Amino acid sequence: MTAPITQDVLTIPRKAPDGAKPNLIGMTRDQLRAALIDIGTPEKQSKMRTGQIWQWIYYWGVREFEAMTNLGKAYRETLAAHFSLSVPDVVTRQVSADGTRKYLLRIDGGHEVETVYIPEEGRGTLCISSQVGCTLTCSFCHTGTQKLVRNLTAAEIVGQVLVARDDLEEWNIPGEPRREDRAVSNVVLMGMGEPLYNFDNVRDAMKIVMDGEGISLSRRRITLSTSGVVPEIARTAEEIGCLLAISFHATTDAVRDTLVPINKKWNLDALLGALRDYPRLSNSERITFEYVMLKDVNDSDEDARRLVKLIRGIPAKINLIPFNEWPGAPYQRSDWERIEAFADIVFKAGYASPIRTPRGEDIMAACGQLKSATERGRKTRAQIAAEAAGAGGGAEDGPPPADQA
Ligand code: SAH
Ligand code: SF4
Repeated sequence: MTAPITQDVLTIPRKAPDGAKPNLIGMTRDQLRAALIDIGTPEKQSKMRTGQIWQWIYYWGVREFEAMTNLGKAYRETLAAHFSLSVPDVVTRQVSADGTRKYLLRIDGGHEVETVYIPEEGRGTLCISSQVGCTLTCSFCHTGTQKLVRNLTAAEIVGQVLVARDDLEEWNIPGEPRREDRAVSNVVLMGMGEPLYNFDNVRDAMKIVMDGEGISLSRRRITLSTSGVVPEIARTAEEIGCLLAISFHATTDAVRDTLVPINKKWNLDALLGALRDYPRLSNSERITFEYVMLKDVNDSDEDARRLVKLIRGIPAKINLIPFNEWPGAPYQRSDWERIEAFADIVFKAGYASPIRTPRGEDIMAACGQLKSATERGRKTRAQIAAEAAGAGGGAEDGPPPADQA
């Protein structure tokens, strides 16, 4: 087995583009404090200033130093001279017939990523992206056909939450108590990309989202979905502590190798080993097993029985996802009766087995349909085959492969 993977090579360093001012959004508290000291803020005051600026950004949703009225005018001007407060630009916003909103966001370098907001009764889930494209090539996933362009920075990850809160008018209002009616009550890392191949930025961004003096989302309202980057699973428990979802999708190595090629690197046995430790390490109740229902591929009664046998002993919920089709997809969605029969076996074995209702299908916002049309680069068939053989390789003329960097 290979050593744990770091992805720094793909990550734009947290340094502003030439000529641009460093962005305070996306910095951890420590980084923010260091940045303030750098521009001459006395060390003794730096903690207090960090707290004040933090609140402006993440509690009130302010994007202009000018509006930070508990800071002196001269200090606000100094801040404005040295720093920016920037979030991705919203290029388009599509609203589905069912209320789902899909944002196409532009980030530095002109790249685009998608973020999806799914309103539900009394709550709402924001599905955010962690990379532009994905180095992995799961054969049923639209994002997997797009070349990886780069990892998102922490600012771009947390920026997706800020942009959605802007659009949903969710910021706290001066003179009023903290808003409890949360439009974005949950965050899931289930958009474009493999979050555990961009670990540090995802962790920093989620720490910001969880911070009690800002957006203040509980770690139990954040779910990170991974295809199975085994060496990073324990770190996720220890350093983020959020809920974990795992893209399981198959009950034999042979089938999982074809659906989720990272299985060739870390097979079911290795994956299940890491999952058994997760609840204890993260002090969370249960793991969500995501299982995409593909007609005649992974949807038999036998699969359902094997599934419950494999995960025995792991506190789990099994989320059955009817396959969401995309143009040129090589699979079909399982019939409804098949999905229900599968769910029934899982349920009778003692596991919750909800069938996920596809949302926002009319705007191609459903799980696994995200792929920015603007990134023209497309993997060739040969490339996909070669990557599947090597598990998770990279693009021809793109950055180095995720797990070989
Ligand atoms: N890369 C991460 C997170 C993004 S994908 C991961 O793979 O877990 C979020 C979920 O959508 C995963 O469970 C993924 O397997 C699933 N998915 C991908 N394509 C899909 C499709 N076309 N239909 C239904 N689910 C899909
Ligand atoms: Fe990447 Fe997840 Fe899609 Fe697989 S399912 S290609 S890991 S985004």
